Amino acid sequence: MTSTPSPRSAPGPRVAASPRDAPAPQLSTPLSVVAVRSHRHRAPLLRPFVTAARRTEAVEYVVAEVELADGTIGQGSAAETVAVTGESADTISVALQGPLRSAIVGVTGTITELSARVAGALDGATSAKAALEVALHDAWARSLGAPLVELLGGRPGDRLLNDMTISLEDPEVMAGHAREAVAGGEQILKIKLGHDIEEDRHRLAAVVEAAPGVRLRLDANQGWVPEQAIDIITGFLADGLPIDLVEQPVAAANIEGLARVSAAVEVPIMADESVWNVEDARRLVEADAVDMLNIKLAKTGGLRGALAIADVALEAGVECMVGAMMEPRISITAAAHLAIAHPAITMIDLDPPFWFASDVPAGGYVQEDGWLRLLGGPGLGLERLRADVDPSGGDQ
Ligand SMILES: [Mg+2]
Repeated sequence: MTSTPSPRSAPGPRVAASPRDAPAPQLSTPLSVVAVRSHRHRAPLLRPFVTAARRTEAVEYVVAEVELADGTIGQGSAAETVAVTGESADTISVALQGPLRSAIVGVTGTITELSARVAGALDGATSAKAALEVALHDAWARSLGAPLVELLGGRPGDRLLNDMTISLEDPEVMAGHAREAVAGGEQILKIKLGHDIEEDRHRLAAVVEAAPGVRLRLDANQGWVPEQAIDIITGFLADGLPIDLVEQPVAAANIEGLARVSAAVEVPIMADESVWNVEDARRLVEADAVDMLNIKLAKTGGLRGALAIADVALEAGVECMVGAMMEPRISITAAAHLAIAHPAITMIDLDPPFWFASDVPAGGYVQEDGWLRLLGGPGLGLERLRADVDPSGGDQ
């Protein structure tokens, strides 16, 4: 393993399809799970997170904890995102304490066997599964004294350029937020688009004027039909907007429509809501429907499903982004290990912790001038988040 930082700068360069490192021999290490626990937290945001679909002022989330027979403890987390995964903090807790717990407590198996038991324990519940499967991976890597990224075949010193989301507000408010983000070192802004194209045009113009030199990622969240998407995106490009990619322009199920938009416009199109699992990824690449895939652990149910998508993408020459829900630092750190580990992943959209009033626990990663890098340490490299910690930073 090299420790030399090798910035993989995106947006832009297509990743060469190179063989990954051989699977880590530690994949065959048996792990005995003796306990699964969970605890809930509520974390206020610094300012409201606003998209066309919702306005969020605080995040409800659940921490999943796995204990191995040797006393090692691993953690993962999942946030309530009813509008996306259909899961609330209540349903996440119930899934963790019920079928997910039953699937692995008292079981001895390899990390892949235990992950498969989590995946098969119940239908759906992808973010609850992600929390537990990440906790298993954290425990696995901690018990071996290695950073998770290394066990996934990655180089811990690699860095990826992060972006910052600008909430959907009036143009002058968005311009102010963009100015602030660029002053803080951000190089790429992610803009959630609304329902009114003319208003969106004003918003984008205001952002670009306030933050010259910044790159834009646009997310339509399925808002358009294909012909409309082609007109709108072509119009944005004619306006000279510095757009790196457009995410999910049309309905998730409209694969043919995605393909039509991708073929018609001069900017990469990325699938998000259309890709939850490896079968979705295969369907999209076989139809040549998109240029990129957005992988999120809360959709895939954890790291194994995410790696399977990235493998399909690598083989097809499709680049991936790793994104996330509005989730806490444990989830985002797991996503960062995944992103840095896999060569098909060239972009990250992992700004949620910067929205939290109090970003706990300590460790995991740092960001400098937009570049995210892991801090090292066993597992995810995070301190344990205890049940009695108040993530609002207030007194108990
Ligand atoms: Mg999206």
